[in-house]
Amino acid sequence: MQQPELPSYDDVVRASERLAGNAHRTPVLTSATANAVAGAQVFFKCENFQRMGAFKFRGGYNAIARLTPGQRAAGVLTFSSGNHAQAIALASRLQGVQATIIMPLDAPAAKRAATEGYGGKIVTYDRYTEDREDIARRIQAETGATLIPPYDHADVIAGQGTAAKELFEEVGELDYLFVCLGGGGLLSGSALSAYALSPRCLVYGVEPEAGNDGQQSLRKGEIVRIQAPKTLADGAATTHLGHLTFPLIQKYVRDIVTVKDEQLVSTMKFFAERMKMVVEPTGCLAASAVLQNVVPVRGARVGVIISGGNVDLASYARLLAS
Ligand SMILES: *Cc1c(COP(=O)(O)O)cnc(C)c1O
Repeated sequence: MQQPELPSYDDVVRASERLAGNAHRTPVLTSATANAVAGAQVFFKCENFQRMGAFKFRGGYNAIARLTPGQRAAGVLTFSSGNHAQAIALASRLQGVQATIIMPLDAPAAKRAATEGYGGKIVTYDRYTEDREDIARRIQAETGATLIPPYDHADVIAGQGTAAKELFEEVGELDYLFVCLGGGGLLSGSALSAYALSPRCLVYGVEPEAGNDGQQSLRKGEIVRIQAPKTLADGAATTHLGHLTFPLIQKYVRDIVTVKDEQLVSTMKFFAERMKMVVEPTGCLAASAVLQNVVPVRGARVGVIISGGNVDLASYARLLAS
């Protein structure tokens, strides 16, 4: 197979120029309790405070900003019921582009409403009888819309890398950087920034234990596909890494570790109680590796990316009370 053209740190820098004034430069927070628990100095980059509530705005906005005038006129298309859908809907509206989002009929009403609220046009399909890729191809044929996938796309990866870039610019070099891992857009982009701005920093990906396809892929040296995992970390319930994200992870990421759903819930409670922050379960992956001592980091300077804060309030309340 032909080698794909991989994004570089230069692409992250270009992305950060496009995002300036459009994405929030999110805060980096610290907590004396977190430092005591980890025995380290921990810096949390809070993408739960990003526009639409997750880092995905960065990649979506950057990908749409890169379209030609002809592509912009034809609109964009994606399939997702999660944060990527909201990111594409909002980033499109801000740039005057029509977005069509293909969502399963049984997607949570709150997610549909959020996506529609940002101006996305929703096309639904039956997950059991219809293939979303067929529907995407039909819409593409009819409208010429550009498909923007959630992670395996150079402009998406470059956009996601801007969060870690901001973190290093703010706190300087780090010994470790922990990043949650689904399809690897955030991890591979973050690793590009780490390698450029803090070359000795050890970058770790953190996956839900039930969906450790990334860890298996790194061990095996090829992309391993798994069945859709059952985990609270719905944003990382992907079944495989991408053709762009995997080689970047192989090259720049030290290792991939896993955490259990119970550990995500403990971390979610920690953020609520100690740091007064709403973080979605997937957003707790990276922090769990540090706060639950999955990787010992005693005495080190440690960066953690909190990836998002979009939760269904009823299930959030249930998990906090558990
Ligand atoms: C999408 C998402 C992830 C996983 O990101 P990838 O780029 O697919 O690895 C993690 N956390 C949240 C909140 C997300 O929305």
